[in-house]
Amino acid sequence: MPDVQIYGGGIAGLTAALLLEEQKQTYQLYETQSHWGGKLQTTQQDGFALDHGFQVIQSAYPALEIYHKRGYLNDALAFGSGAWLLSNGRKTLLADPLREFPRGLAALGHPGIKLNDVFQVVKLRNSLINQSPQTFFRGNPITTLQYLQSCGFSQSFIESFFKPFFTGIFLEEALNTPHSMFQFVFWALAKGNACLLPGGIQTLPNRIVASLNPNNLHLNASPDYRAEGRTLQKHFATQAHYFAVDTHLGLVKFIGLNATNHGNINLIAIPSAVQSGYAPNGKHLLCVSLKPSSNGLAQISPSQILTEVEHLLSTKISAQWLNTLAVPQALPSDTPYLYGDEPQPETPTSNGPGNALYATGNIANPSLNAAILHGMSLYSSVNCR
Ligand SMILES: Cc1cc2nc3c(=O)[nH]c(=O)nc-3n(C[C@H](O)[C@H](O)[C@H](O)COP(=O)(O)OP(=O)(O)OC[C@H]3O[C@@H](n4cnc5c(N)ncnc54)[C@H](O)[C@@H]3O)c2cc1C
Repeated sequence: MPDVQIYGGGIAGLTAALLLEEQKQTYQLYETQSHWGGKLQTTQQDGFALDHGFQVIQSAYPALEIYHKRGYLNDALAFGSGAWLLSNGRKTLLADPLREFPRGLAALGHPGIKLNDVFQVVKLRNSLINQSPQTFFRGNPITTLQYLQSCGFSQSFIESFFKPFFTGIFLEEALNTPHSMFQFVFWALAKGNACLLPGGIQTLPNRIVASLNPNNLHLNASPDYRAEGRTLQKHFATQAHYFAVDTHLGLVKFIGLNATNHGNINLIAIPSAVQSGYAPNGKHLLCVSLKPSSNGLAQISPSQILTEVEHLLSTKISAQWLNTLAVPQALPSDTPYLYGDEPQPETPTSNGPGNALYATGNIANPSLNAAILHGMSLYSSVNCR
């Protein structure tokens, strides 16, 4: 059989290449950019690992099993299950009441959170946790906001928790993302953890690449015109400001959410409090992720961002700006929002020239899970011919 050509060196293309490599099947992997990993990108700077956008690995995603089995995630470490709600100088920990009992109940002191909201969180968790994730993607989707309202959550709880938390995941503030995606992510958070790998998000693709034959790998490859039409066109953007700080600012391993309607910040986190290798010895890395509505604003200076962080945490911070990383094409917004084990338009067809596999970001939903499933289905399609 002639070589299989894979176009796209993101996690989908790398997954297909790894499976072909392990089966000793011949392939060539072509990536137009100068790095592997696609959206999973990290810039190393002065001993700090700066991910391109705030990114985590949801350990419970079923498709990640392929990498759990190979030990690629053995040293992943988790953020705390929950988040700080930051508003008007007040810092309240909203922790998973079942996993972080009793401190999870501290949230009841927050004015935006009613006892009924905590009850509804537990109820939602119990109703989703034993379902298989495929089921979330069947049926007619409504928006995440409509779904949360139909579950009985108070508007103040939606505004102070769900909105900032899921804005950080969906990269859109209106919570218009189909509720299937919300259920899937909520399910994954209840079942597993939001994790970081040592050295940044790009460590995962780097580990896959280390298992591949370098003779088959081609960076800076000329784009294949047939692949172009298979790339999704509409995207949500994101932007992260990074600062060197001396302490974890009291956030420890929990992310901090801007629980007010004001300002440019969506969330803040100290990745080095979770994985120490994100910062050099004696330092911490502060990641400030902006609201999507602030991404398009021409110039928000790092000092303005830092002032907003100080306001949210109600403390003066000594920090040195490191970098600002914008990701204009972070999440595709025109996916079909399916689970990903259905046949996809990118699978090669008999009229496709040669043995071309397209892994250029056209996935069933905007998740790592769907990207890995896509790579697996491309691999299977070779063996089905
Ligand atoms: C800031 C951010 C946060 C995220 N957070 C999460 C999260 O919390 N949970 C989650 O599950 N997912 C998250 N994601 C999404 C997840 O990272 C992506 O869904 C996944 O990485 C997509 O992988 P992919 O291989 O399908 O596509 P991509 O990573 O887009 O890779 C496609 C590759 O194809 C290349 N290419 C394009 N055209 C051609 C061509 N003609 N020839 C050759 N190569 C070509 C591109 O250069 C690119 O490298 C996040 C993404 C970002 C950016």
